[in-house]
Amino acid sequence: MGLSKTIWTNPSEFLRSQQPDNPVMFFAPSVLQATARRFIDGFPGMVTYAVKSNPDEMVIQNLVAAGVKGFDVASPAEIALIRRLAPGAAMHYNNPVRARHEIAYAVTEGVVSYSVDSRSELEKLIELVPAENTEITVRFKLPVQGAAYNFGAKFGATVDLAAELLARVKEAGFITSLTFHPGTQCTDPMAWDSYVRAAAEICRLSGVKARRLNVGGGFPSHRQPGELPQLDAIFALIGRVADEAFAGAPPALVCEPGRGLVAESFVSAARVKGVRDGSHVFLNDGTYGCMDELPLTGMINRIHVLAPDGRKREGAPEPRIVFGPTCDSVDRLPGEIALAGDIAEGDYVVIEGMGAYSTATNTPFNGFGAVTVATVMSPAV
Ligand SMILES: *Cc1c(COP(=O)(O)O)cnc(C)c1O
Repeated sequence: MGLSKTIWTNPSEFLRSQQPDNPVMFFAPSVLQATARRFIDGFPGMVTYAVKSNPDEMVIQNLVAAGVKGFDVASPAEIALIRRLAPGAAMHYNNPVRARHEIAYAVTEGVVSYSVDSRSELEKLIELVPAENTEITVRFKLPVQGAAYNFGAKFGATVDLAAELLARVKEAGFITSLTFHPGTQCTDPMAWDSYVRAAAEICRLSGVKARRLNVGGGFPSHRQPGELPQLDAIFALIGRVADEAFAGAPPALVCEPGRGLVAESFVSAARVKGVRDGSHVFLNDGTYGCMDELPLTGMINRIHVLAPDGRKREGAPEPRIVFGPTCDSVDRLPGEIALAGDIAEGDYVVIEGMGAYSTATNTPFNGFGAVTVATVMSPAV
């Protein structure tokens, strides 16, 4: 997409002067860089970025400018993207199941860190990847609460299997490391507590030291008014528990946030196509567009309704059913959403904190999906 040529003061200025008929994503590079520095200054280890959450070039470029030196990549296309935009950066290929041609490509691109959660995929790596100076990170899972949904449903070895895999990684001559993902939008810091202690247990069981411990993504973004993410408390807990669990000699720590890094730097605006017979609100963006993950992770309730002149609607909020533009009945935002009672056709529904899993999962389904990106000095609505 790239930065827009004009840099607007804020979303309201753009909406008022441009009257866009396509959905708009407002990008605030200053917010992205500030969030990146908050992670780099606060997290007790290396900060990498999970590319899948928002692979936009301007996002990657601003993260590099802010000092992010590593990326969690999951596919050859993401590897190529990072090679091009951040040639010196570390790439952690942390998708535990890969086709042979994908592994071969990663090797030619110089990837020297791979995660794994099974015997079959570990043997594939051992066969195809030269061991020298190369890390294999065993991904494990716990039955855990606290996140918006369970990441362990797809990936992660049990503690016992992880211990077996770690021993095999060592035997094959690779650098031994561990990783987990506590689940996305994980608002409970105690999830990291259990996982970090389980990592120490895996090292004890296998008799193998971990060089690094990657504590995943899952860092929460700001989704509900008044509930700010407790990043500093999570960072402090991870550092303290790692010290404790590994008796003062913890592995080097790595984190790979997606949502927690990028969400706050985008604000979305969708135009009201119609308020059907005064009740249901139809937007020009929905779950096949930039709002794909809202039904999965839950609604972001930092919502404003702006009239076409850019002013905020102040009518008493009323719960509404809100639909996207396609003819599919699942194209609906979750639950009922409190919107200013005087909302009208042509207004804009503006949602803050929309940078993660939004533009990345937008589709052209039913002929929609054209999104305008506008750069803003401030995302404040
Ligand atoms: C998706 C993903 C992340 C990022 O998760 P967030 O919840 O967005 O922080 C990190 N690591 C891996 C392996 C992932 O698959």
